[in-house]
Amino acid sequence: MNRTDSLRQTLARRALLGDGATGTQLQSMGLKPGACGEFWNTAHPDRVRELHRRYVTAGADLLTTNTFGANAFVLGHHGAADRGRELNVAGAQLARELAGDAAWVLGDVGPFGGMLEPLGETLPEDAAKAFRDQAAALLEGGADAILVETMSDPVEMALAIGAAQAAGATLVIATYAFQKSAVGLRTMMGTTVAAAVAAALAAGADVVGANCGTDLSLGDYEKLAAELVAAAKGNPVIVQPNAGSPILREGRISYAESAALFAAAAPRLLGAGARLIGGCCGSTPEHIAAMRPVVKPTG
Ligand SMILES: [Zn+2]
Repeated sequence: MNRTDSLRQTLARRALLGDGATGTQLQSMGLKPGACGEFWNTAHPDRVRELHRRYVTAGADLLTTNTFGANAFVLGHHGAADRGRELNVAGAQLARELAGDAAWVLGDVGPFGGMLEPLGETLPEDAAKAFRDQAAALLEGGADAILVETMSDPVEMALAIGAAQAAGATLVIATYAFQKSAVGLRTMMGTTVAAAVAAALAAGADVVGANCGTDLSLGDYEKLAAELVAAAKGNPVIVQPNAGSPILREGRISYAESAALFAAAAPRLLGAGARLIGGCCGSTPEHIAAMRPVVKPTG
């Protein structure tokens, strides 16, 4: 059985533990805010390896590649639009190397960073090509599934899911960033949880859910988990919360929610029906290790 099938089968049997933040962890290892973290896949592979090693040691079942912004559009802002294949292949290989038989590798795909026509100037086919090229390189480097994350626009989400499948992905995980509004949880584009999930499922996502988000407490993520499960129509749901909101203190950014709070939230997220849980911005290997006893590796 190939690794993608074993991931699918394990997911049908038990809950799985994701890893935590990449960007904020790389910043703690010296990456300057605003710098291109994906360059580290070739410039500082040992630091990326160390990050993955910490999450494997923490007990993560899933490692996320350091490729969130490695699409032609975002790389273009760093003068590296032509380095997508190299950085994605390297990112997937690094995660694959550290995952061994202990974890599966999710090839990470973030937003292209602009707006699609007619709100913006980007043609859907150009965004789709960027997503397809990225997913193809991630699969070439050894990713077991593609994770499309931190999306706000269901149209962009659908493009990215379709592009990943066109590149050969047979397991696609799709997560949106939600925030609170006067009328409930919405994406930045104003999309409801139900509509966002429906768009991802219609595009062919195998797993749907949420990551990141703005000003959401762990209690908010619990409510979000329940909304996602209701919308997912039996498909597996993933929730990867931020460790609270960023706080600037003495020139350093820290995050409010501790590993102990993540450990306490884990059974509630699973109780709400989430099947995969992990962390996003601000979460650390300690947060993941704290959730490990709750997300039992067997049974
Ligand atoms: Zn995040």
